[in-house]
Amino acid sequence: AAKAAGKSAHRTCTPALRESAVSRAELIADLRRAVDEQQLHLEFQPIVDLATGAVRSAEALVRWQHPRLGMLPPARFLPLAEETGLILPIDRWVIHEACRAAATWRDRAPEATVAVNISAAHLRRPDLIATVTEATAEAGLAPRALTLELTESALIEGTDAVLERLRQLRELGIGIAIDDFGTGYSSLSYLHRIPATELKIDRSFVARLGADDRAYATVEMVTRLADAFDLAVVAEGVETERQHAVVTAIGCPRGQGYLYGRPDGPGTVGQNRA
Ligand code: C2E
Ligand code: MG
Ligand code: MG
Ligand code: MG
Repeated sequence: AAKAAGKSAHRTCTPALRESAVSRAELIADLRRAVDEQQLHLEFQPIVDLATGAVRSAEALVRWQHPRLGMLPPARFLPLAEETGLILPIDRWVIHEACRAAATWRDRAPEATVAVNISAAHLRRPDLIATVTEATAEAGLAPRALTLELTESALIEGTDAVLERLRQLRELGIGIAIDDFGTGYSSLSYLHRIPATELKIDRSFVARLGADDRAYATVEMVTRLADAFDLAVVAEGVETERQHAVVTAIGCPRGQGYLYGRPDGPGTVGQNRA
């Protein structure tokens, strides 16, 4: 709307703009209280073995139950959280909560792992190591049952300190997944430097399977690359039986998406799809 209104919208502050500025400030103030007042919660989305349908892992996805606005998805508040630094207490809470949940799955699925998204800001902090060590220890969860998901853009800023931190996490046994793989600065030299254990093929490629030969070639290439580098690989955003059939035929071993389970679905860890 601001674009359509042209440049005048920037000079004269329209009522709509003023309103959005206020709600932004309000939202930041609300977000400051959200962790303490227990308004955040996690949904878990299953990651399945494509051959058997068995749930191998689950990704923790944060939601904010806002007192007036209702349930907000991460896209509505994580950018604000990142700008204000509030992402750090949020990430910390998510890691602790995800480890606690994963510890309760062990009876049903002793080998199941949990995946947690980590922001770029958190990766730059030395205390990330202490946070994950504490969270796994408190929950009684083996560090190898935890995978941290990082985006290519977070990793590309990879200073020597960040690389050293990733190596320390690997030494503890924690998995490192590169999220939304293929959308950032994927390069082979960077795959050599980063001690990753897993690639997650971005859902934009999976969505175009069948309609776009290059999307097919990309999914196939990343699957082969992961195999050659001895990395786990997951196709993200599988929504249809057709996409399931194609990623399975390509030989991608794992999938995640609405077809197997929505993040708001029933807890399915330890159960089979079939
Ligand atoms: P992501 O890590 O790539 O997570 C996958 C996103 O795709 C989730 O959106 C999930 O609900 C959605 N999704 C899963 N399957 C399908 C499908 O079949 N079709 C479609 N269209 N979408 C699917 P969500 O929960 O809105 O999260 C968005 C992003 O927010 C995440 O992308 C992640 O980057 C970030 N995020 C989520 N939770 C956290 C968190 O606790 N901490 C941090 N730092 N970031 C988080
Ligand atoms: Mg993720
Ligand atoms: Mg992703
Ligand atoms: Mg994403």
